[in-house]
Amino acid sequence: MTSPGAGSGEPVETDISLKWELRGVGLAVCGIGDRDRRLSLVPTDLWDGFADLLYGMTNLYGPLATNRFFFDLGADEARWVTRRIEPGPEVEVTVLLLKDMMTSPDLPDSAGEVMWRSRRPRTAFAHAAMNAAQAVLDEYGEDGYLRLCCHPFPTNALLDLRRLHRRLDACAACHRT
Ligand SMILES: [Zn+2]
Repeated sequence: MTSPGAGSGEPVETDISLKWELRGVGLAVCGIGDRDRRLSLVPTDLWDGFADLLYGMTNLYGPLATNRFFFDLGADEARWVTRRIEPGPEVEVTVLLLKDMMTSPDLPDSAGEVMWRSRRPRTAFAHAAMNAAQAVLDEYGEDGYLRLCCHPFPTNALLDLRRLHRRLDACAACHRT
């Protein structure tokens, strides 16, 4: 697969990088970054974090301006909050750290510590997530993913995200390929 904008010398519209790296059975690292800051998270394998991430990105196209999903980091919660900036096209994605998963789901966002935040056009987040998912699928296939992650690859989430992104975002990176 191509990596959009890499080495092209053109303005990089999709300047969000998102990676989901499988590092062995039940171990994955999620990395997200923009030009300024990067964040790496290691969710536990009990939760299907990759599917939550992809469905979280499809929610950028949904009726609600604000959506949330979370990663279980073991002891703590990484809460993702996505917020559409009306009238668009930008969205703000914030990753909060909330201590103690036993109690944190009841806590408001304001109780969390901001680990990462970026405000970019929706197309940048969607394109990065779509590419991250396709890269995992290309490398491992659905069977390999299931063996390593003990969860089915979130194929439907990827298909949804691709359909929404291609239909509703004027993505220069997609049109180049
Ligand atoms: Zn695209």
